[in-house]
Amino acid sequence: MQLSNYHSHCDFCDGRSKPEDFVKFALSKNFRAYGFSSHAPLPFETFWNMSGCDLPEYLEEIKRLQKKYQHKIEIYSGLEIDFLTKEYNASIPYFQELPLDYRISSIHFLPISEELKEENMVTIDGSYKEFEKSVKHYFEGDIRKIVKRFYLSSMEMVECGGFDIVGHLDKIHMNGGKYPGFDAEAFWYKKLFIEYLVLIAEKGLMVEINTKNLLPKKELYPLPFYLPVILDLKIPILVNSDTHYPDLVNDGRQEAFELLKNAGFKFTRELMNGKWEDCALT
Ligand SMILES: [Zn+2]
Ligand SMILES: [Zn+2]
Repeated sequence: MQLSNYHSHCDFCDGRSKPEDFVKFALSKNFRAYGFSSHAPLPFETFWNMSGCDLPEYLEEIKRLQKKYQHKIEIYSGLEIDFLTKEYNASIPYFQELPLDYRISSIHFLPISEELKEENMVTIDGSYKEFEKSVKHYFEGDIRKIVKRFYLSSMEMVECGGFDIVGHLDKIHMNGGKYPGFDAEAFWYKKLFIEYLVLIAEKGLMVEINTKNLLPKKELYPLPFYLPVILDLKIPILVNSDTHYPDLVNDGRQEAFELLKNAGFKFTRELMNGKWEDCALT
């Protein structure tokens, strides 16, 4: 089993510990590679995003750790960048000019108005109560409408590009799955999701198998039901814990690898000495 993780948070954003604590835990589990991907700055402040002014220090701290642990573990610098609109996403010069090893792009927000302010955002991965309220208020109480909007934004994100890894690609099912009328195996959902996967494959992007909620909620992003489609489309995958706590760095990895093997996957994509390579699943 590959011991690596490329999606992680630390106290530069909403992670609960210093970057070095994550590295120490990864080392204690004999990890080969560890990547940081704090929530990138947004055009507005939230409690979970890094502030733009902290970005230079974040990059410096990762550099310091790379040097300190260079003979023990490969450490990489990344960011998890929100796709908000065609004007604010991973492809803009602000993010492209940063000296990063990789970029993850994710959707946490669906803007409901042109002005990019926190109050104009529908949060898809906050509390269920908040999600339910948003579906009723902005999407006529119709789960299909918000799911459709989520995948439209996701497709736009992939079209805009500027990143390497699609973050938690179907996280809409975390809250959506509890809302009446949601069915990830129904034709209407399948059509939207498979169309999205086909576009990801066309653009040659990697998809993460996100284990953040696998043990606590028995939820995987993507839903295991769709693993065979991802395999058929030959989309490269990697397993990430999206951890916010050092002791959860390795959470759900073993279980995800079992699911991948059972689905027929033979490789994961890994950063090896700074280059993405396919590594055999063992
Ligand atoms: Zn995320
Ligand atoms: Zn994350």
